[in-house]
Amino acid sequence: METYFKNYESFDEKPYQIELLKVCPNCGVGNNPDTWLVSHATGEVKVFKHRCPLCNKDHLTTQILKQNNFCEIVMSFPKPTIEPLDDIFFEHAPRFSELYTQAQYAETMKLYDIAAIGYRGAIECLIKDYALDFEIDSKDTIEKMNFDNVISRYLKEDELLSNTAHAVRLLGNDYAHWNKVNDIPFETLKYTTEITIKAFLMKFNQKYPPIKPNQKL
Ligand SMILES: [Zn+2]
Repeated sequence: METYFKNYESFDEKPYQIELLKVCPNCGVGNNPDTWLVSHATGEVKVFKHRCPLCNKDHLTTQILKQNNFCEIVMSFPKPTIEPLDDIFFEHAPRFSELYTQAQYAETMKLYDIAAIGYRGAIECLIKDYALDFEIDSKDTIEKMNFDNVISRYLKEDELLSNTAHAVRLLGNDYAHWNKVNDIPFETLKYTTEITIKAFLMKFNQKYPPIKPNQKL
């Protein structure tokens, strides 16, 4: 579980650094919560309540204050129910990240039809977010296109990725139909969705490497 540190001003003690989860365990989106100390006893073991401003739900952490003034999480509740996306997607493919996360929650609730339609929509948004971020087309042009068109227009140089994106489109279509004609397992759609996401993760990581080619170290 990825974490970060934030200064915490306590009433009766010197300020110290508390450890926060990078992703809210309730909604799976970024986490910059309001935090309260729940256990009032001063000392090294502390219990905090955190409220996520995005989903407005609370999570708890138990932390130990170390000698160096930094806390360390030893327990958190609730446990995250979904596998969070790579941060690069939240930054460069925001609409995809939203839809995908919602579809993941639908899946955890066993709402497979909704999850399947969500994964299909998420991949359509991923290609559109990609086209915008990579400046392939203007926002107005991208907006008007349907899923079939975005695949043929923006993935035409990449035949293999184009194939998997079409597979997500077709498998997802079936879940949206009134008369569902195929009996392809949900896992097949999920697997194909994951493969597509991995391919785009590679593209985004290649565009935004940790160091620019002409950057001095
Ligand atoms: Zn949240």
